[in-house]
Amino acid sequence: MNTPQSNLEILDAVVIGAGFAGLYQLYCLRDQQELKVKVLEAGSGVGGTWHWNRYPGARCDSESHVYCYTFSKELTEHWNWSERYPGATEIVDYLNHVADRFSLRSSIEFNSRVVAAQFEEGNGYWNIEVDTGQHYRARFLITAVGCLSSANMPNIDGLDDFKGECYHTGQWPHEGVQLEGKRVGQIGTGSTGIQVAPVIAQTAEHLTVFQRTANYSVPARNHALSTQERNNHKKNAATTRDISRSNGNGHGWHINKQRALDTLEEQRTAIYEKAWQTGGLKFRASFSDLLSSNEANSTAAEFLKVKIQQLVNNPATAASLSQIDHPYAAKRPPIDTHYFETYNRDNVELVDLRKTPISMITKDGVVCHSIDSQGLEHETHHDLDVLVFATGYDAITGTLLRMDIRGRNNVKLSEAWSAGPRNHLGVQVAGFPNLFTITGPGSPCVLTNMPAAIEQHVEWISDCIAYLNDNNHTTIESPESSVEYWVTEVNKAAEETLLPKVKHSWYLGANIPGKPQVFMPYAGGLDTYRSICDKEANAGYKSFTIS
Ligand code: NAP
Repeated sequence: MNTPQSNLEILDAVVIGAGFAGLYQLYCLRDQQELKVKVLEAGSGVGGTWHWNRYPGARCDSESHVYCYTFSKELTEHWNWSERYPGATEIVDYLNHVADRFSLRSSIEFNSRVVAAQFEEGNGYWNIEVDTGQHYRARFLITAVGCLSSANMPNIDGLDDFKGECYHTGQWPHEGVQLEGKRVGQIGTGSTGIQVAPVIAQTAEHLTVFQRTANYSVPARNHALSTQERNNHKKNAATTRDISRSNGNGHGWHINKQRALDTLEEQRTAIYEKAWQTGGLKFRASFSDLLSSNEANSTAAEFLKVKIQQLVNNPATAASLSQIDHPYAAKRPPIDTHYFETYNRDNVELVDLRKTPISMITKDGVVCHSIDSQGLEHETHHDLDVLVFATGYDAITGTLLRMDIRGRNNVKLSEAWSAGPRNHLGVQVAGFPNLFTITGPGSPCVLTNMPAAIEQHVEWISDCIAYLNDNNHTTIESPESSVEYWVTEVNKAAEETLLPKVKHSWYLGANIPGKPQVFMPYAGGLDTYRSICDKEANAGYKSFTIS
């Protein structure tokens, strides 16, 4: 990489991304270890995924008292969440407060998208290039780019011809979008689609939801937190933290040890009903065997399908919404606020793409086609003013691979991962010394409450860097044999669950044409993962090569 010296800054570490992960990584290295650190952020502010996801109804599915940092007692004491689940704006406010409270802003370069990073064999530094032309040279390069930050825009025929407004939920204009009096078409019914549809329906003249795969959802039962609830959360913060660190999912609850298959039907239904009334992702924790046994899972799936049929008035719409082809929670389970009830509104229509697939987009809408019982083809044109793509992300690896990251021998990360991501302990890629990936592939990442996984990763990486510096080492890297071991562990953990059996899942990269289909997260649980990582650190990072 040709680097003009005038545009070069030399640092101990560069962190890419100023979301939950990047801010905490900066704090740990700069304030606790007094290293020279810079965070490079493509956006104009802190927030990471929440900086971009400003679509109507954007809200976290983790409860606010666990969707936050736990490293500072004062921060926990000071901050007051207003609702059970934090909205996007409130999360951005929280992260701005964190940035100010710990004076982090002075070490962040905003509007600075990293386009390339190259490991320089001669001096053992990473040379990092930003789209502004600025270069940084740093011993350690840490990616904190989030798992869901590269929007997936499907390649549908005629998309460029559409003359109306067109938005992806993950790149929603910060100033908002006027939907009053407009006919909106929404493509996608994942977690995002399920959140956004009820809110669009309240303002748009008409909403057409194009559903390719039907999805389960459990009511979120969001509400404003009372002072007493908030006080209880604060009083119990240490216990909640212990729980979130001692279970597999990083949330503030334990998974019921009871197995669905060992439970009498009446009692099982009562447990599901209670979880349905309580609302939220905790429904997944109703029994211990829901994600390991198809038979157990189908008890939850059936319960939820009946709920959908009860909530939706039109029998054909109810059938389309409840004909779900995968086990419950084998894809990331959404939670909602009146999603299914939205289809009872006069201004909302569901188009089941399994019966009438999209053939093309025209200048003023979407064309779907169907074949009747006589074999005759029919076309329906859905007239639209606005198209909303809630079509997800090139998840987990997309943002990492969009940067031109090159390790030893000028090997690109995209070449090293051409058959799917491979790394050691979910943090280090063979041939890419001193590069750490926070909540990347091979780690529990998206299968957990993210801040819990982020704190674990950041603390482990920080301890590792402190160990290197304290012992006058300059480089840590993963030998291929360690990568081989960890890839086997990741595959083994996934095979013990129903998760990799869903073929059309973004956990496998199956939503992106041409992406290698490999189950990317580590499904063995955050608790198990933490103890494996701790053991490695306590043994002096023996499965890594240190020099
Ligand atoms: P997603 O789960 O990948 O869902 C994308 C949706 O778009 C699916 O319904 C998909 O259908 C559909 N789709 C994609 N391409 C299409 C095409 N060409 N034609 C028709 N339909 C198409 O994405 P997401 O809903 O944005 O959620 C991604 C993840 O973000 C979640 O799983 C969750 O982890 C996170 N998230 C979290 C929150 C939260 O905490 N509140 C909110 C939103 C999202 P198929 O299923 O058939 O592919």
